[in-house]
Amino acid sequence: MKLLSVIVPCYNEEENIRDFYDELFKNTLFFQEKEIEVEVLYIDDGSKDRTVQEVKKLRAEDERVHLVSFSRNFGKEAAIYAGLQKAKGDLVVLMDADLQDPPSLLPEMYTYIENGYDSVATRRVTRKGEPAIRSFFARMFYRIMNKISRTEIVDGARDYRLMTRQVVDAILAMTEYNRFTKGIFGWVGYETKWLEYENIERRKGETKWSFWKLFAYSLEGITAFSTVPLTIASVIGILFCVLAFVMIVVTIVRKVCFGDPTSGWPSLVCIIMLVSGVQLFCLGIVGQYLSKTYMEVKKRPIYLVKEDI
Ligand code: UDP
Ligand code: MG
Repeated sequence: MKLLSVIVPCYNEEENIRDFYDELFKNTLFFQEKEIEVEVLYIDDGSKDRTVQEVKKLRAEDERVHLVSFSRNFGKEAAIYAGLQKAKGDLVVLMDADLQDPPSLLPEMYTYIENGYDSVATRRVTRKGEPAIRSFFARMFYRIMNKISRTEIVDGARDYRLMTRQVVDAILAMTEYNRFTKGIFGWVGYETKWLEYENIERRKGETKWSFWKLFAYSLEGITAFSTVPLTIASVIGILFCVLAFVMIVVTIVRKVCFGDPTSGWPSLVCIIMLVSGVQLFCLGIVGQYLSKTYMEVKKRPIYLVKEDI
């Protein structure tokens, strides 16, 4: 018998735990025919509601349900990593608890694995039901990201992904602290089949991602998978040096050949403001990378387990 592990990161999802369970097992009868067992790992990311109790209730009814709960909220990336570490399956799939990742796609995804793909990923082609401004910034992010990073990061890609053991082990080998999973998937490579579907709105509860949380996350993605901003800082520095040199020559020539005195401190103030602004901006970029390096060097654990059932 083979095993399929379903990893579900949950943060305050008490209303969705049972719905997800019902929906999942309704759609996995297909796997029984294929002689594949299914297990569910709910990774509780330090929920403050009754998520843990809900999972324990399910566990009492069904041995195929597992629970790993964290000592506090470590973020979805940490939950994914924990899930991948705990999963014993020959096949592993990542899914959200809010049923935005339809379990009905699983049989189709599996047929691609059977046909030799190493992983089957999904992307949503519409962003229906999402604020327009968020969609706009999301598009911008993917466009910039793909220009400045060699790792391919697919627009609209979800974390909903079915993987073979080989791919899971490759992802686990990346032990970095700042985890940007979308980039990590692209980085490890392997033969990936992309399935597309229309956005589905969250079943119950509300999203855990505010605009600013997403914004910070996008910066994380950029620093984790590109060093182009550092190059930009250097290029701006060189440009300003060249500009300054030209201005010095012009000023001297004007004074020596035409006797023009260089007038005005307003222009000077403007230049000082501009250049110090640029300097602070570039220093900020360097600081971003330094802070990430600082966190990596500390080698803190990515998550801490409170309960493992
Ligand atoms: N999630 C998590 N930790 C967090 C935030 C979210 O484990 O700190 C889980 C959440 O419970 C859900 C999934 O990540 O299963 C996706 O979150 P959400 O639906 O809020 O994000 P969205 O679909 O709106 O991008
Ligand atoms: Mg969601």
